[in-house]
Parts: sequence; C-alpha cells; structure tokens
Amino acid sequence: MASEPSERGENTRAVHLPVPPPLAQQPLAVPVYRSAAFAFGSSAEYAALLNGSAAGYSYSRIDNPTADSFAASVAALEACQLPGPAAAQPFASGMAVISAVFWTFTEAGAHVLAPAAVYGGTYGFLRDVAGKFGVRTDFVDVTDLDQVRAALRPETRIVYAETVANPTTAVADLPALAELAHQAGALLVVDSTLAPPPVCRPLEHGADLVLHSATKYLGGHSDATGGVVTGSPELVARIRAVRIDTGGSLAPDEAFLLRRGLETLPLRVSRQCATALAFASAVAGHPAVRRVDYPGLPGHPGHQVARRLFDAGPDGQSYRFGAIVTVTPYGGRAGGYALADRLRVAQVATSLGGTHTKVSHVASTTHRQFDDAALAAAGIDPGAVRFSVGLEDAADLIADATQALDALGGTREERE
Ligand code: PLP
Repeated sequence: MASEPSERGENTRAVHLPVPPPLAQQPLAVPVYRSAAFAFGSSAEYAALLNGSAAGYSYSRIDNPTADSFAASVAALEACQLPGPAAAQPFASGMAVISAVFWTFTEAGAHVLAPAAVYGGTYGFLRDVAGKFGVRTDFVDVTDLDQVRAALRPETRIVYAETVANPTTAVADLPALAELAHQAGALLVVDSTLAPPPVCRPLEHGADLVLHSATKYLGGHSDATGGVVTGSPELVARIRAVRIDTGGSLAPDEAFLLRRGLETLPLRVSRQCATALAFASAVAGHPAVRRVDYPGLPGHPGHQVARRLFDAGPDGQSYRFGAIVTVTPYGGRAGGYALADRLRVAQVATSLGGTHTKVSHVASTTHRQFDDAALAAAGIDPGAVRFSVGLEDAADLIADATQALDALGGTREERE
C-alpha cells in the first residue's frame, strides 16, 4: 500500500501538491482565497464549524475569507462613528443583497413601503417576484412624510429608501423615515449605492440596515459585481442565513477587486463629487436644458436635507453631494436620446460609479420596467439622461456636454 508521499501514484502526488504554511507576516493586500472548499484536521472540527461552535471556513457559498474581508471593510467605513458593533455580509450583486433582505424580513401577507422612484431592478423584484409570494408593496414618494405615514400598516415590515434616489437624485430624510418606520414596528432599510461613505453613513441617521450595489462606487472601476449589507450583528446574521440558503454569495476574485476599490473610495468619490458639482452648475445654464437634478445645487429640493445628513468633510464644510447628475433636455424622449448619443467623452454605458463618465437614457434603460404612469409617479421625465460623473477632467466633461447640447439646436418652443 502506498502510504508515504514518495510511494504514491502520479495522480495522487499531482492532486496533493504541497501548500505553503501559514505566513508569519501579514500580507498588505488580502489574498484571493479561490477555494470552494476547506479541509479539516478531523471530523469533529468539521462538525464544530458547521454547528456554529467553532469559527472558520468550510465551503465558499457559506463563507469565504476574501469575501468576508470585503464585507468587514465596508462595515468599518459605514459604522466608524457608531457606538455599538456592526456586521456586514457580502453578496454576488446588489440585487442579490436586496432580494435576500426582503426574503429575510417579509413573509406572505407582509407589506413593504418603497419609493416610487426606486431603482428599476428593485421595483421589478418587489412587484413581480416578492409580489408573487404574497408580499405587497406600496410605492410612494418617500420625501413626502405624510404619504409615508398614511401608507404604513400593521403588517408593514420594511420601509425602504434610497439615500439619493436613482435617477431623480431625491434625498431621503432618513431620521424622519426611521422614526415613522420604528413607530410602526418596521425596519428602515436604505440603499445607499449613490451616496457611499464618505458621502453619507445611513446607520448614523437611524437606518437599521444599509446596503450597496458594490458594483458601483465601492468597487469603482466597473470590473467587478457585488453587493453588501451592514447593520447590527443580530439582523445581519439573519440575512447571512438566507444568503446561504439562496446562494447569492460573493466570489473571491470579485471580493478582492471590490476590497481593493475601498482603499481609494474617499479619494475617488470626493473628486467625482467635486466634478459633478461643477458639471451640474455649468450644464444647468444651457438653453437646451429643461432641468438638472443634482443635490449639490442650492435650488434642489433635497439640498438642505443633504446638508443635514451628509458628511461635512475633513474641514467641516466640504459636503459631497454624490456624482449622479440627471440632465433633462427639451424635446422629450427624442431629445434625451440625441443628447446621450452626441456625447464623445461620456459614454453610453450601463452602470454608474466607475472611473469613466457614463450616461444612460433613463426611461429606456435603468427604468425600462416603469410604464408612463410609474415614470410620472416617480417624477422621471421621458427625456431624462443620467450622468454618472467619473474621474475625467471637469473641463472636458463640460465641453463635451455643451457641444452635445448645442447640437440639439432649435428654439425652446420648437424643442417643446
Ligand atoms: N441599487 C441601485 C441604486 C442601483 O443603481 C443598482 C444597479 O444599477 C442596484 C441596486 C443593483 O445592483 P447590481 O447591478 O449590482 O445587482
């Protein structure tokens, strides 16, 4: 019998290659643990891990060290000012985390309150998927607290908000929503994809859970897909259990890229926000523009709420208002298409939050699930074009938008 390694067959030797011992030095970058399975010294150790009496790793759908490291890093940024502990869970995408949160805290007969201007994928999930399983959602204007109050019901489990709505850029009054939700016995769950740390940290403003499509600013380079949720260890443990059962776990390669992105998050986001403010201010004055939505503009309806909730920056007065600017030209749907297609620096592309400035015609892309009535209820003009401002120079982006708007031509009356 071949028991010594040197006596084993060629295939056994190939499969059981030497592995490096644990390192004495901490690597500066978190390694990619690209292993679906982990080995144990004994069956008792394996059993102890699975029944929760020992910590560690068994199988990467359950937990993976690189994915955990990414989630813990997000928790450190989101909860840096909280008195108590916070935990986070990594997911394969923003929609994986959003769906897991609803599966965790609702059941047939439960009620959800969500914004009329919610991200299209969330809208589709709540209406078509959760709805099929008996969860009823009312879509209301969450910036109108009377509407929220009137829509709450004894069976409301979740009040859902986006810190900055995609694409209207409406800013949610999180402390007021938290108070209403908690009075009704519901959780306040906040999608803060468009307002990542350091723009805003919703847990400091009463949110029970904050989630992100990490595909956007957290990763920041449009090269990895992921999601993450942060909150109290008790709530997050319940979400983890659902993630394990539904399988939306984050892959280690993606986790590596997303965690690396976090190291430059404040630098990237601060610069993107400053460029977005300059861009929004410049474009708002163009005669071909019907309206510009950007929370950093003093006339924006959410500007004061943003000043109250957003981080004031290292000097106490450098608010960052996000880097999504929604530009609505005259000319309806055709005007929006023409604006997007004439841009040369900004690219027509999916997603947001990356280094490249991207545009999308909202009604035909991110919010294609919305019919005209839902678009109107959400306050989305059929011509709206969403700019996700990247890291290019502000002057180039402004010149690009100006030439595209100039080319729309015609008088205001003709464009109408
Ligand atoms: N939430 C918001 C605000 C989004 O914009 C998106 C995607 O665009 C999502 C959630 C979904 O994220 P993902 O595409 O990573 O599933």
